Amino acid sequence: MARRRPEELTWPAATTTVAGVIGDPVSHSLSPLLHNAAYQALGADWISVAFAVPAGRAGEAVAALRALRLGGLSVTMPHKTDVVAHVDRLEETAERLGAVNCLTRRGGEVIGANTDGEGFLAALARGLGVDPAGRICLVVGAGGAARAIVLALARAGARSIVVVNRDRARAQAAATLAGSCATAGRVADVGEAEVVVNATPVGMAGSLAATAEPLVPGALLRRGQVAVDLVYQPLRTAWLAEAEAAGARVMGGLGMLVHQAALALERWLGQPVPVEAMWQAAEAALAV
Ligand code: NAP
Repeated sequence: MARRRPEELTWPAATTTVAGVIGDPVSHSLSPLLHNAAYQALGADWISVAFAVPAGRAGEAVAALRALRLGGLSVTMPHKTDVVAHVDRLEETAERLGAVNCLTRRGGEVIGANTDGEGFLAALARGLGVDPAGRICLVVGAGGAARAIVLALARAGARSIVVVNRDRARAQAAATLAGSCATAGRVADVGEAEVVVNATPVGMAGSLAATAEPLVPGALLRRGQVAVDLVYQPLRTAWLAEAEAAGARVMGGLGMLVHQAALALERWLGQPVPVEAMWQAAEAALAV
């Protein structure tokens, strides 16, 4: 076991606020790294760790958040939906989506939020300077991330949203979130789109879909279109490389990951957080 230097023994201390992420598996999670980069840049006496909480035990994790007076918890698979039943209150977006990625303790209450969609919009603005208002958007996938993005795009004023998914019924269900401006569509609809988002795990290193063929090939994109891949491992996917070669402006998933985490931290700390420091920490970790 590596030995610690004596000065390291003074921290974390009795005053340190513990926060973290719950999930299973969770040892691969970048959340503690992102959170800790922010705490360090702010000089906050906070520390974030990963808690491996098995499926079906989200309620116990919420009880622990209360009893241990944790600073907050990020929520990842498999708890995003289950945790909804255990909070005192849901923010409106989490209520619409029926999914939570962030738990905040405030005034004796535990509040569930979903910052994925807002994180996506912030990344799009910061990374590419793109505002989806008035634009034709196409989202590939209809799972939790896709649903958050469909709702966020609709709220941001997208002109129309087409959802393309293997399972068309799920595409229709996701489109319903956006009311009349969204429909379930087909691969050929990509020609009309101005913003195209991959919200499937295709290309994600380590996932079952790592080497699967994308439903909407990157080569179908063209100049004038924006392509966003939610996958962040690798930082640049084969789909993005193809889309860029076809002339599209492209962005990977790291920005959304950083911004959704920053939005959680803002709720916990009650102040703006250093997004740049979080971004650099994540990029350094993923580049190795
Ligand atoms: P999910 O709820 O499991 O949904 C997965 C979606 O991908 C489903 O619509 C599924 O289609 C589709 N899909 C799966 N394998 C496919 C394949 N081989 N070909 C075509 N479609 C396939 O997952 P999620 O939570 O939405 O996450 C989706 C991806 O986004 C993951 O890679 C995740 O890491 C990433 N993500 C990134 C961020 C970020 O901050 N960057 C945040 C959230 C998620 P069916 O419905 O037909 O099964």
